[in-house]
Amino acid sequence: MPLLAASALLLCLPAFCAPPEAALAPPPAAIPASEQPPRLGSADKLIGTVCGVAIFISTPQNRWTADEKRDMRAIAREAEGWIVRQAHRRHVPLHMNTVFFGGDKDVSVDWIPVSDQPDKDMANMASYKANARWLTSVLSAIGFSQPLDLWEWTKKTMGSDNMHVWLFVKTPGRSYAMPFVQGSDPVHDWVECTMIYSSYRDGQPTTSRTIAHETLHLYGAWDLYLTASARRPDIADHAQQIYPEDVMLGKYPDLEDMDVGALTAYLIGWGAMPKEEYDWFRPVDVPETPVGPTTNAIGQ
Ligand SMILES: [Zn+2]
Repeated sequence: MPLLAASALLLCLPAFCAPPEAALAPPPAAIPASEQPPRLGSADKLIGTVCGVAIFISTPQNRWTADEKRDMRAIAREAEGWIVRQAHRRHVPLHMNTVFFGGDKDVSVDWIPVSDQPDKDMANMASYKANARWLTSVLSAIGFSQPLDLWEWTKKTMGSDNMHVWLFVKTPGRSYAMPFVQGSDPVHDWVECTMIYSSYRDGQPTTSRTIAHETLHLYGAWDLYLTASARRPDIADHAQQIYPEDVMLGKYPDLEDMDVGALTAYLIGWGAMPKEEYDWFRPVDVPETPVGPTTNAIGQ
């Protein structure tokens, strides 16, 4: 397996010899995905039947055009197909269904949240809550007065085990994910969503790579490049050594040139991973002990 070879090579690099916890091999014990405590939220593990709810959202001043919607649907399908192929490569059963809202007529809102530093903002509970309230108003506009109503609807109509929301917003911005975080309300904040902007701030088009990356965040994946919540400044160099193609490192423009590495696979429920290895990459705002199942009854 290439990963093992890469890990062995990594041990020889001086940069990774200093911190003792950075030792990556040999793995003493793996924690099977089935034994990991479930996280909270609608996007728990990316397995089984997964429902995506995609919503086209705009303001009266800046509507989606039919061609733009067609293009967004196309890259959404690309991302979905890529994720399913990655799962099947690892023999993980995964079936994804995406249902679109606002396809004929946009969901109209007065304003769209935009953040220059979404990783910092989403770590701030007040900003997170403001985004969650905005999501609640969008879901209400498509007929679900409570977020949990959408969760129940996808379970009932599509038999979904897990679900996520793609908010396709017609404004430039840096896309980001809103996974359920500790301290959130297990009723009002249950539905996990990602903001997908129609383009980047500099005008670059949003691609399937962005959608796949943000979707995996919802299921627990961590960034493998330097962000505000990274534990170590050399995270990208380290990831480059052992997960060079990982979509959470995201160094290639084309999604088809990337994959889901062992760490990301573990985090989204696709496999086992030695604790030492994933701990090296654990962001500062992710507790060592995952959230337990005590209030996860809503998600069953
Ligand atoms: Zn990211």
